[in-house]
Amino acid sequence: RKKVSVLDVAINIITMNDAIDVIIDDFLKSDKIHLIATANAEMVMMANQDKELQAILNSADLVVPDGAGVVWASNKLGYPMKERVAGYDLVQHLLNKLKNGKESFYFLGSSPGVAEKAKVYAETKYPGVKIVGTHDGYFSVEEEKMVVQEIQKLRPDILLVALGVPRQEKWIKKHFSELNVPVTIGVGGTLDVMAG
Ligand code: UDP
Repeated sequence: RKKVSVLDVAINIITMNDAIDVIIDDFLKSDKIHLIATANAEMVMMANQDKELQAILNSADLVVPDGAGVVWASNKLGYPMKERVAGYDLVQHLLNKLKNGKESFYFLGSSPGVAEKAKVYAETKYPGVKIVGTHDGYFSVEEEKMVVQEIQKLRPDILLVALGVPRQEKWIKKHFSELNVPVTIGVGGTLDVMAG
């Protein structure tokens, strides 16, 4: 897959349709686990100062051009990008496309109540969608163990993690193997927007 390096962060040159296809036809059908990041200018600049974040992004399976600044920079560098692939929109497309399938979601993050509201929103907007669990993003070390165990038990196919940048990327990386979820996406404010 083609990538462009923006301030030393490798970002996929990809459209929304192709990103959806890669996730559904490749990632969800393979037996490997995948980390997806949604890059905007803030994240790229943060990664320039935070080498741990930079390494995580550069080892991610897919880094979509979430922000207009990233698309602009790519075009400027001579790598034309057709469009933004905003994390919020990517999630809506996945919920819609998978609503009649067997694939399930788990929503982790945001203030207490938000992930649950986002679940109700998704179930109303995408009838048939399977959201097997939710948890807010303000947990203690002890609660974190329970969250990890719950996700292991529920075995979602797609895990959305909304803990803000860079916490969500670092959290995903730290728990990546033990969670063993086929597709995990750091989604920032997506659950807040869905909860309204
Ligand atoms: N958040 C969280 N736990 C934290 C910090 C943030 O669940 O310890 C949530 C916050 O409630 C919000 C989301 O992470 O829903 C994204 O936060 P923010 O908008 O600050 O981050 P950004 O998307 O700009 O990285």
